[in-house]
Amino acid sequence: MRSFTEYLEFCTREKREYINITSKVEEIVKKSGVQEGFVLVSAMHITAGVYVNDAEEGLIKDIDEWLERLAPSGRSYRHHATGETNGDAHLKSLLIHHEVIVPITKGKLDLGPWQEIYYAEFDGQRKKRVIVKIIGE
Ligand code: ZN
Repeated sequence: MRSFTEYLEFCTREKREYINITSKVEEIVKKSGVQEGFVLVSAMHITAGVYVNDAEEGLIKDIDEWLERLAPSGRSYRHHATGETNGDAHLKSLLIHHEVIVPITKGKLDLGPWQEIYYAEFDGQRKKRVIVKIIGE
């Protein structure tokens, strides 16, 4: 069994952004040489997430509105007593979850026809990282 690790870096222009990272993950899988295994894609932050879904503009806006409805920004959260202002970003991260595992078959991401991997930033405009860890053979 072999393992291979790389990190993706982000520094988004907006506070909230949804970035399709499928081709970047695919590149790392190719570089790893792993033919059969799994890739873990995990945000290394508590105010960001990684999810798998459709790369459709309208849906991405729907997801953003849905998260904003459930965890509105600009509200006074208990977390803000620490001096932070990102209470909503923590809650949005919990709703989206921070990681996904995708199967690798014959050296490629084995995703369904409409599945794409997204990095979801909820408190951007600063440096953030995602770990991509592959295990298999
Ligand atoms: Zn915080």
